[in-house]
Amino acid sequence: MKVVIIGNNVSGTFAAQNIRFLSEETEIEVFTQEKYPYYTRVNLPELISEKVSIDDLIVFKEDWYRNKRIQLNLNTHVKKIDPKTKTIEVEGKSKSISYDKLVLALGSTPNVPPIKNAIEMKNEKKGVFTLRSIDDALAIKDYIRSKNAKKAIVIGGGLLGLELANQINNSNLDTTVVEFFPRLLPRQLDGECGTMLKEEIENRGIKVALDAATEEILGNDFVSGIRLKGGQKIDADIVLIQAGIRPTIELAKNAELDTNRGIIVNQFLETSEKDIFAVGDCIEYKEQIWGIIPACMEQSKIVAASVLGAKKVEYQGTTPKNTLKIVGLDVTSIGIIDPSKEESGGWEILRKADKKDCCYQKLVLKENKLKGAILYGDSKATSYVYSKMEQDVDKNELRDLLELYIYVCQKCGMEYDDAVMEVLFKDLPDDFNCPNCKNPKEGFKKKE
Ligand SMILES: Cc1cc2nc3c(=O)[nH]c(=O)nc-3n(C[C@H](O)[C@H](O)[C@H](O)COP(=O)(O)OP(=O)(O)OC[C@H]3O[C@@H](n4cnc5c(N)ncnc54)[C@H](O)[C@@H]3O)c2cc1C
Repeated sequence: MKVVIIGNNVSGTFAAQNIRFLSEETEIEVFTQEKYPYYTRVNLPELISEKVSIDDLIVFKEDWYRNKRIQLNLNTHVKKIDPKTKTIEVEGKSKSISYDKLVLALGSTPNVPPIKNAIEMKNEKKGVFTLRSIDDALAIKDYIRSKNAKKAIVIGGGLLGLELANQINNSNLDTTVVEFFPRLLPRQLDGECGTMLKEEIENRGIKVALDAATEEILGNDFVSGIRLKGGQKIDADIVLIQAGIRPTIELAKNAELDTNRGIIVNQFLETSEKDIFAVGDCIEYKEQIWGIIPACMEQSKIVAASVLGAKKVEYQGTTPKNTLKIVGLDVTSIGIIDPSKEESGGWEILRKADKKDCCYQKLVLKENKLKGAILYGDSKATSYVYSKMEQDVDKNELRDLLELYIYVCQKCGMEYDDAVMEVLFKDLPDDFNCPNCKNPKEGFKKKE
């Protein structure tokens, strides 16, 4: 049997590896339009600031593929799939390539919001960039150097936008992050934690503009800044757009596979066309797309089994897990962080906001099961949270973990619960009195 895989990043490579692990005989051929074997995109911002080299990013070199008897075709753009003849066509080759099973691991590309001049100035290399590949990072680095750029704007205050802004700032550019929503990391944090993060980012010398819709990229020959809705202008020598992703679906769409935002798959990662499967950033399952490595890894195991006909494991979706990778800033967001957006009730929140120590921790529970968390400024609870997601938890254990206590007024019995109050008991002023009976702060005792 011959399996053809289009796409060679985490999903394509691990699908190939898992197929080889399960079957020695299967012929596996991988195509990618990029010129590098599998590399990690995670550290691309550091390639711009020269903290890492291309070699540091390559995860598997070409001999890894040879050893696993996986035929790798670099620099090869696949231009057409023909499900009827079970063939693909690649650019520059007249002969089509046949497959028994086809895996689409096409990934995604950066989303460019509808901003006047954005696409044109990006395509014409006039100083507007997105970051997805090694080549993008090298182009950004070259532009900064050749234009002697001093000021940068990053459009998008999500994880990738902030990590990129941090590295650009480290390269000594005066950097401004422009975010459409009223807080940074709008999908990962709530308002309170977003405010704490904004202060921390600003302390690092990065400017932040929130609630700021970019309407136009300014400049003639090269970019000179942006104009926001409302008319405010911000100067820049380079504009970097990190505003979400778009699954790559065109190849599948042209072959008449079902697509929506992504390539639609079922629980076995089968597309609407027999013998064609899809995996990773390019898929849509139950109206959701993921765009994170843990989802690609999980799916690549399932797709390998499905391709080989062992349809035993069903994909259940992957819990979103995100960590901001900025040295000295611990921010992790996992699962459901805002129950108010959920349809059903019965949610419980344990929350610790310690502004003095710049720490915010929020655990979201439902029927005693841990459903989500924000962990900011203190990573003590991270491994516990990861291991206990979707499991029954002991609330007292959680309180101990977060150092959240209940203090009881020894005179009237009033309880001060750190988990629901705005200020931790320890941070209350020394002249705090019991709101019920005016007993002084020392008249409270920690509940055992
Ligand atoms: C800067 C950056 C930082 C990130 N950091 C994190 C992180 O910290 N944690 C995390 O979980 N995720 C992170 N991600 C996201 C993560 O990299 C993606 O989820 C992952 O790369 C998706 O892998 P994939 O194999 O599905 O798709 P992709 O990585 O997009 O790879 C698809 C490949 O297919 C190729 N391809 C597409 N169409 C064709 C065609 N027609 N012919 C030939 N080849 C084709 C593409 O060129 C590409 O090389 C980050 C992404 C970026 C850009």
